[in-house]
Amino acid sequence: MTDKFHRETLVAGAGVSTDRAHNSVSPPLHLSANFYWNDPCEKPEYDYSRSGNPNRTQLAEALASLEGGARGVVTSSGMAAVDLVLNLVDPGDVVLAPHDCYGGTHRLLTARAKRGHFKIVYVDQTDLAALAAGFAKKPKLVLIETPSNPLLRVTDVEKVVGYARQVGAIVVADNTFLSPALQRPLELGCDIVVHSTTKFINGHSDVVGGAVIAKDAELGEELAWWANCTGVTGAPFDSFLTLRGLRTLFTRLERQQATAHDVVNRLNDDRRVAKVFYPGLESHPGHDIAARQQSGFGSMFSVEFTEGIDVLELLRRLEIFTIAESLGGFESLVCVPAAMTHAAMTPEARETAGISDRLVRFSIGLEHSEDLVRDVFAALDGAVADGNVTYLNEQAVGACA
Ligand SMILES: *Cc1c(COP(=O)(O)O)cnc(C)c1O
Repeated sequence: MTDKFHRETLVAGAGVSTDRAHNSVSPPLHLSANFYWNDPCEKPEYDYSRSGNPNRTQLAEALASLEGGARGVVTSSGMAAVDLVLNLVDPGDVVLAPHDCYGGTHRLLTARAKRGHFKIVYVDQTDLAALAAGFAKKPKLVLIETPSNPLLRVTDVEKVVGYARQVGAIVVADNTFLSPALQRPLELGCDIVVHSTTKFINGHSDVVGGAVIAKDAELGEELAWWANCTGVTGAPFDSFLTLRGLRTLFTRLERQQATAHDVVNRLNDDRRVAKVFYPGLESHPGHDIAARQQSGFGSMFSVEFTEGIDVLELLRRLEIFTIAESLGGFESLVCVPAAMTHAAMTPEARETAGISDRLVRFSIGLEHSEDLVRDVFAALDGAVADGNVTYLNEQAVGACA
C-alpha cells in the first residue's frame, strides 16, 4: 500500500493478507511475549513484545500513514502517549501548554513540573497576545489541543507553528478530538501528533490506548527508543482491536458528524439554550480557523442551558444518551463537565475557564439522528427547574462533585 491510495483504502487494507504462516486474510493476533530465534546469531524481526509486536506494528503503520508521519509508536494509553513525548525535554526547558488542555494532561504536566522535570507555562492559545507572551519564554516543546474540551475552542495551528519555528520549539498536537479523518496537524507544520486512541480511533469504547506519530523518522526513532526503554508500549490485543475499530473511522465520523449537525441546529434555535459551542456554527469564534484547518467540524459539542433548566435532571431523563465521561465511541454520551470531567477544578477556575455549571457536553454516536433529537427534547421538557428562581442546580453540582 502506498501514497497512491486514498486513506480510506489504506485503513481497509492495513495488515490484510500479510500472514505468511497460514494465509489468513485478517491479521492474526500475536499474544506471545517472546519470539524464537532460529540461530543465536540471527536476531529475528521480533524478539520480545515490549520492544516489538506484529499487531502493534500494523496499527502504528496505519496511524502513521493516516496522519502523514514517518513513524508511529503505539502506547498503552493516551496519557502514556503524552508522557512519552515529555522525554524530549530536559530539566530547565519550558513546555508551553494550553490552559484548557485535557485534565489528565494538565495533572501530568503540573506534577512533572513540580518534580523539576521541566518548567510548565499554561496559556490561552486562542489569545494571540497571551500566546506571544508564552513564546517569549522560549519553550522547547509546545503542546496544542484543538478543538479544546469542553468548550471546543479552536487554536490556529499554523500561527502556533510560526511562533515555534522562531524559537526552535517542537510542536506536538493532541489530535484526539477530531482524529486524522478530520484534521492532519503534521500537514499544518506540527512535528508530532499524539492520540488517545481510546476515543475516535478505536471508536468502540472497549480499549484504552494511545499513539504518538512523528513527521520525521529520526524523531520517531527516538520516541520508539523511549517507549521500549520505559515500557509504555501498548498490548497486542489492544492493538488488534484498535486496528479493527480504525477500519471504520471515516464511515463512523461522517455519520456521527452529520448527526451532530442535526442535533446542534435543532438545539441552537431553542429558547432554553443559552449558547451552543460547536465550531460548525458561524457564530462560533473559531469557525473560520476550523473551516480552514479541519476537514469537518466533528461530532462533539457542548450546550449551556438557561437558568430555567436543571441540567442534572436533564441527564437523568435522557433515554438514549449514556451518562459517562470519555467520547468518540459508537454510543452517544453526555456529561456535565462541572460535576464530572472538570469536577477537580475549583468553581473559580471553572468560571475563569468559561465552564458554567449549566454546561452539558455531548458526544454523538451512531444512533439515528431523529431519535437523538427526540430524546434531548423530551428530556428538556421534563427538566424545567420548576419556575424556581433560586435554582438548585449549583448546589446539586457541588453535592455530587
Ligand atoms: C482522553 C484524552 C486523553 C487521555 O487519554 P487516555 O487514553 O484516557 O489515557 C488525552 N487527551 C485528550 C484530548 C483526551 O480526550
